[in-house]
Amino acid sequence: MTLGAERKLGERIARELYRDPDYLDDAVLAEYVQGLWQPLLAAARQRGELTSELEERFAWEILLGRDRTINAFALPGGYLGVHLGLIGAVTRRDELAAVLAHELSHVTQRHISRLIAQQDRQAPWLLGAMILGALAASKNPQAAQAVVVGGQAVAAQSQLNFSRDMEREADRIGFGVLTQAGFAAEGFVGMFEKLQQASRLNDNGAFPYLRSHPLTTERIADMQARQPLGAPRAAPPPDLEQAMVAARARVLARPGVDVLRGWVAEAETPGFAGLAVPRRAAVLYAAALASLQLNDLPRAAAFAARLVPLAAAQPQGARQARLLGAEVALQAGDLGRAAQLLGASGDASPARPELFLWAQLRTRGGQAAEAAARLQPWVLSHPRDASAWQLLAAAHAAQGQGLRAIRAEGEARLAQLDYAAAVDRFRAAQALYRQGPGQPGDHIEASIVDTRLRLAESALREQALER
Ligand SMILES: [Zn+2]
Repeated sequence: MTLGAERKLGERIARELYRDPDYLDDAVLAEYVQGLWQPLLAAARQRGELTSELEERFAWEILLGRDRTINAFALPGGYLGVHLGLIGAVTRRDELAAVLAHELSHVTQRHISRLIAQQDRQAPWLLGAMILGALAASKNPQAAQAVVVGGQAVAAQSQLNFSRDMEREADRIGFGVLTQAGFAAEGFVGMFEKLQQASRLNDNGAFPYLRSHPLTTERIADMQARQPLGAPRAAPPPDLEQAMVAARARVLARPGVDVLRGWVAEAETPGFAGLAVPRRAAVLYAAALASLQLNDLPRAAAFAARLVPLAAAQPQGARQARLLGAEVALQAGDLGRAAQLLGASGDASPARPELFLWAQLRTRGGQAAEAAARLQPWVLSHPRDASAWQLLAAAHAAQGQGLRAIRAEGEARLAQLDYAAAVDRFRAAQALYRQGPGQPGDHIEASIVDTRLRLAESALREQALER
């Protein structure tokens, strides 16, 4: 299978995942995962695992899923999926990095194309349906593992599993990438032990990562042997950011109302004060975000306020506490408090979580022009950032700039490979322009819309031909 064909297959799958209600682009979680992913990519590049051709042709994109299962998976074409259950279960950065390094190595070693080559008689659309079916089945272990596609029952799981040799190779290469990227080697062993423990406690198939990645004692022993000889298994320094991000993942994975209430109660128990600082930070973070999900805004604000001084000792932790406080304040309509917590985020080049909160703050506070002015350069440098386009659409709409708002919506759909919806939006933009009179500068915007419509139409035609 050529790189181009594999990328096309990956896009076919990613297009469906973007539309899945469980797909989530959370700026905080996405940034955290990227903070691990980018150093791993750089290390793989340095080691020659990631060739420039592969880097150019594949997407190298991570899609987050609101799913409580501990799972991560590599898809064709350089797309990867990470479940919030995994982010919420790890206790140190190196462990999450270890899983990503392992998945990255499945991609760089072209394991997926080898699996696909074994299915050589299958049409790409059937392969795409099989992989989507396997993902759906892994989310719901009770459901039948055989997926019916195109009238054929396909035991998707068994046909798409990596072989033991591939797993060993992904471990070996992933380990090299992980350590070269500066992460602790303990990450691999820690993750293996965690997964093994989880499988022992929950032997009901609730951990699909284990099913797609057979965990053998041999693999664990192999990883332990890679540790420097006699190296003590050092406990990592307390990492407030990691503790808070994991808490965020657990809440956003939609654990159910009772669990959310339990997390709120945990922050109010007498034993809370005796917990270690990272644990307290995680409990307060979960309690604040859970209160927000339960729509108890005053309580969310109170927990978030308690978190700020607690996290002040570590800059990254302090930042997460401020971001959460601003998120809560924004939702509560307390724009002043949100602005105070975001501080200078409106300056120069804010990071994505700050930019997104700040843009919403300005749009809601009647200063949508400022929000648009800050989002414009961002989408220029990140044209595939659908969430940024969506915020820009809201900022334009708030200023009564209908044409620009609809075009930004079209760009958001295009970024998520939904060509039919993009065509629909760009045509709506054309129709609006013809009604005139619009805003100053609309003629320039309209000619951009014409170009973008042609591109989306051509992508849609190409997609139809692939069937
Ligand atoms: Zn694997």
